Amino acid sequence: MSLTPEQALEQAALAGIHRLRIPTPFAVGRVNCYLLEDEPLTLIDTGPNSGKALDELQGQLARRGHSIDDLELVILTHQHIDHLGLVEILVEHSGADVAALGLAAERLAGFGEEAEREDEFAVELMLRNGIPQEVAHALQSVSRSFRGWGARAEVTRPLEDGQAMPFRDRTLQALHRPGHSPSDTVFWDEERRILIAADHLIAHISSNPLIARPLDGSQRRTQALANYIESMRKTREMPAEIVLSGHGEPITDHVALIDDRLAKHERRKEKIYTLIAERPRSGYEVAQALWGNVAVTQAYLTLSEVIGHADLLVNEGRVREVDDGEVVRYEATG
Ligand SMILES: [Zn+2]
Repeated sequence: MSLTPEQALEQAALAGIHRLRIPTPFAVGRVNCYLLEDEPLTLIDTGPNSGKALDELQGQLARRGHSIDDLELVILTHQHIDHLGLVEILVEHSGADVAALGLAAERLAGFGEEAEREDEFAVELMLRNGIPQEVAHALQSVSRSFRGWGARAEVTRPLEDGQAMPFRDRTLQALHRPGHSPSDTVFWDEERRILIAADHLIAHISSNPLIARPLDGSQRRTQALANYIESMRKTREMPAEIVLSGHGEPITDHVALIDDRLAKHERRKEKIYTLIAERPRSGYEVAQALWGNVAVTQAYLTLSEVIGHADLLVNEGRVREVDDGEVVRYEATG
């Protein structure tokens, strides 16, 4: 019998892991941060950089008898601003160490310019895949307008994939699980079978594997969905009883959830193959055939979905990319 989400939260709390739900200005709603009452006193993710988020974080910490000055360690699960925007302010107040994937340290430290480069990369990718200029540039402005909710983070404890993090009462193992973002890192308490997974796995929404710039700064884009599927397969093998997510409720049957997600991607891949087999199409044309004219803010998301699945078809040798110098189109090889 697996636990209910409520029981899972209770069990996590008994293990000293408390969910704090912090508001964000984004469509996803609140973000889950986790307070780890251990030594060092640790906060896993911070919420976005806003007065409202800070107020609520302070309030929720106070309810457990802590203030932000008491924090000794902040762990960042990945590079998205809804998860890390308050890190600079928290470190200023507390002097806490910041732990995050070492591979992401440069990206996190250079937040402003890196975000700008991220946006330029996205515009270029959108244009190359047939998205109209006005849509690509509108999306760039939207992204810039969100910049203030982020912040730079100086990583003082860079983590390697597989590294053990000792606390007084437990050991967490940091595991790199790229896909949703290139820096996604999950934290595994093997003894208690609790996995702190952030956006790697979310119960009520599928974690969008957004196409991103690789962390090593190279210009080739990531195969976000291919990476994500590989990451999910690794997580599937773990004997987790409770998976704590970055949004929404805990997951108590991660194998069933992952199987469901893998099957969904398989179906979507075949649907996209059918569209490409009809005639060569750009990523944008595939997205339009699937979802029609979506809102501007959804354009990058849907393009990432299409490219991610097309990557799988290219990797299988069923589809190839044809570049006419302006736009990349996918065509069936068979
Ligand atoms: Zn995220």
